[in-house]
Amino acid sequence: MADLTNDFSWSRSRDGAFQECKRRYFYQYYGSWGGWAGDAPPDVRRLYILKQLASRQMWGGRIAHDAIEMAFNAFREGLEIPVEPFVRDAVERMRAEFRSSRAGVYNDKPKTTALFEHEYKVVIRDEAWLALATSVQTCLRNFFRLPLLAEIRRTSPEHWSIEHWSKTFDFEGTRVWSAPDFGYWTPEGRLALVDWKTGGGGGEDASFQLGCYALYAHEVLGVPPHNVDLYEVNLREPVVTPHTWSDDRLEGVRERLRLSVRGMKSYLKDPDANVAVITDFELTENLRICRWCNFKAVCRPDLDAAPAP
Ligand code: SF4
Repeated sequence: MADLTNDFSWSRSRDGAFQECKRRYFYQYYGSWGGWAGDAPPDVRRLYILKQLASRQMWGGRIAHDAIEMAFNAFREGLEIPVEPFVRDAVERMRAEFRSSRAGVYNDKPKTTALFEHEYKVVIRDEAWLALATSVQTCLRNFFRLPLLAEIRRTSPEHWSIEHWSKTFDFEGTRVWSAPDFGYWTPEGRLALVDWKTGGGGGEDASFQLGCYALYAHEVLGVPPHNVDLYEVNLREPVVTPHTWSDDRLEGVRERLRLSVRGMKSYLKDPDANVAVITDFELTENLRICRWCNFKAVCRPDLDAAPAP
């Protein structure tokens, strides 16, 4: 197999890390590179393990997203899903992953669930863990009740995109990672792209995310914005918010992407070779960001280990 190379690419989470703290961005996308190898230098390996940490809310969201993907795979095969056993299975998976994380299995197997709360020994009351499990169950039950789901299931599974038609696309020479959670073609020949939300969010950031999906539709599938329906589905309520896009708004998304790419590249020692030097990436002065940062153990070990929940 050819050696992996750390090529520059863009994603919304990368943009978010860059905005919040340049040093964190460095650790996430450069310092931890290669840490998956068992014989990586210890400091690189440590950064790689910390990079995998997820907050409990992110973890709950991932469990719900994985379950929904499983459900669509079953629907595609023409199977019916008994809702309550399906929800129970998801909770069982949560329990198993929780135990694995609490036991620190991720230190040897970094791709297994690694919770920030366990690494940093954040005191979380049992009620809060239970509330998280309840929220995942609510999201899944609401998913099965959605009129939008019934509508999707009336269309042909051949026209569904479950694991995405493509996860990346080229934008002016930069590989962009941005794919919606689910997509399908409506009977009217429109492209519908769906974003499942299990937590907060919304606002400007959500709008940019949807804009990236509109760009995805344009670049990957050649569908102009006026033929795309974007659905933001808040599974906790549940509320489905449709969004439409225009060519003008799409140009705004392109411009924001260009600026973001330019900003990231301006920090590189050698932008063509994607070479970064740690000292060029300053630490944020906002310690509130540090308290919930995956890398604080190596970056600011003097901060008290456990942030207040
Ligand atoms: S601990 Fe703070 S300064 Fe260090 S990488 Fe994290 S956010 Fe940045």
